[in-house]
Amino acid sequence: MAEILDGKFYACEILKEVEVEVAALKSRGITPGLAVIIVGENPASKVYVNRKHEACEAIGIYSLVIRMPESATEEELLAKITELNNDNKVNGILVQLPLPKHINTEYVLDQICPDKDVDGFHPMNVGELGIGRNRLVPCTPYGCIKMLELAGIEIKGKKAVIIGRSNIVGKPMFNLLLQRDATVTVAHSKTQNLPEVCREADILVAAIGKPKFVTREYVKPGAVVIDVGINRVDGKIVGDVDFDDCKEVAGAITPVPGGVGPLTIVMLLFNTAKAAKIQNKLM
Ligand code: NAD
Repeated sequence: MAEILDGKFYACEILKEVEVEVAALKSRGITPGLAVIIVGENPASKVYVNRKHEACEAIGIYSLVIRMPESATEEELLAKITELNNDNKVNGILVQLPLPKHINTEYVLDQICPDKDVDGFHPMNVGELGIGRNRLVPCTPYGCIKMLELAGIEIKGKKAVIIGRSNIVGKPMFNLLLQRDATVTVAHSKTQNLPEVCREADILVAAIGKPKFVTREYVKPGAVVIDVGINRVDGKIVGDVDFDDCKEVAGAITPVPGGVGPLTIVMLLFNTAKAAKIQNKLM
């Protein structure tokens, strides 16, 4: 039976670190600030935005939620981003995705000042990560790495397989694992013999968006399985990994919910504090 990697526990550990950073910034007269923009009425987005707002308030980060109607134009959204780029009280800007179809998401995200890009999606931050000069790193993969480190799971020299090559999870996860000296394979929808490829992995990361896709035939006995997936099935949240099946084979495994999700939110707070330090030339 696998060890269950409790994301809530590790998120609390990281939160303690962030609280120390926030207190240190406040002692210098700096209150880190995060602005989240939500466009439209997507119910899941509303839940995520409320959680982010509450998490900020709980540790004394100034939190601003900007709600724009579904009908908001790209120009209106860009004008808001420009305003926030120039607002000294705001150190981090996050545009909640997905955006309505009439808005060019990529173009909008590119207009966020790279030093305020707490999602780590701006091409400048992506490039920095690629060459190992990490500045603002995407929250979900960074949270997974922090959890592995806190759990004392060795990465160096291990074989890692990531299923999924998105800019949000798969690709940054590749860079983070590679930086820590893992031998990394990125698998995707066109990968041949996927179960066989995955069974090579000491660390298997699933970021696919398909409920219970990964079953025990994908898992090498004793492997660490990180389930990034969030899928809604019959009103319940399930991961990309068939937890009950894989926990019999894996050495350690994250549950869904209660695994990677809590880490993502805490890393947003971490990045907001880091952005405040960058903007105040404290790092
Ligand atoms: P995405 O749709 O951008 O990418 C999915 C990837 O999976 C693609 O690269 C695709 O090649 C791969 N894929 C799809 N079908 C496949 C198949 N049959 N075999 C192999 N690979 C396949 O998704 P994403 O944004 O990377 O998100 C992935 C999952 O992680 C989703 O469930 C999403 O909700 C979740 N997610 C969770 C968090 C969190 O905080 N826990 C954050 C971001 C994303």
